[in-house]
Amino acid sequence: APLLELDRVVRRYRQGAEALEVLSGASLTLHAGEVVALVAPSGTGKSTLLHVAGLLERPDEGEVYLDGRPTVALDDAARTTLRRNHVGFVYQFHHLLPEFSALENVVLPQLIRGLAAGEAKRRASELLGYLGLGARLSHRPAELSGGEQQRVAIARAVANAPRLLFADEPTGNLDPGTSAHVFETMTALARASGLAAVVATHNLELAATLDRRITLRDGVLVDA
Ligand code: ADP
Ligand code: ADP
Repeated sequence: APLLELDRVVRRYRQGAEALEVLSGASLTLHAGEVVALVAPSGTGKSTLLHVAGLLERPDEGEVYLDGRPTVALDDAARTTLRRNHVGFVYQFHHLLPEFSALENVVLPQLIRGLAAGEAKRRASELLGYLGLGARLSHRPAELSGGEQQRVAIARAVANAPRLLFADEPTGNLDPGTSAHVFETMTALARASGLAAVVATHNLELAATLDRRITLRDGVLVDA
């Protein structure tokens, strides 16, 4: 089975008396190691799609299969466990904890998952080293450049070795050179670990460096 499959996903939001249908039967198949760009104008449902695919939101109709197994009807606790074990998120703003060092920010999700402190530290420093931040382990977020902050956020998102990474405009706040480095980082991680990623972006040049491009048209996913 594919790693992730969205089958005719429908998602509606109530807006006053109206219902806004954001996703109208969106389907997607994602295989291990694939890095896909989601390119579409603002307001077309990119964040909604990433949240449904990442088990943060339930669709109103349709199914989301992880390893060929349906997830929509699972209870909240089971969905949270699957999300913790298998999914990482990166956002436009890094949301790192300001009082904690880069290393501690990457250690924390591992402790929450129950890993021993020594092992969590070892893995965090190895991961940050791999992402080119070996000399920044004890820096706080404010002492890092925008691109470094975002690479720490990526390290945090993959600290628990998820098989899926969803990035929502991860370089929306960065200059072009730094953005390219952040994209290279995500692709390198996917190649190294078999991680599959969907990256929502407005940057067509960077989208062109990923494995394939999709877009949302009238609530449905089509090749871009
Ligand atoms: P994008 O990420 O492409 O900008 P979103 O998925 O954030 O799009 O939003 C798509 C549409 O759904 C927008 O019109 C937005 O206002 C609406 N929307 C998103 N989340 C909610 C919500 N929780 N409640 C009501 N409307 C929402
Ligand atoms: P395992 O790989 O041993 O199933 P997980 O931590 O992945 O362990 O899953 C924990 C529980 O959730 C198990 O009961 C498993 O059967 C169930 N589960 C795992 N993945 C899915 C899925 N995609 N859909 C439904 N149930 C799942």
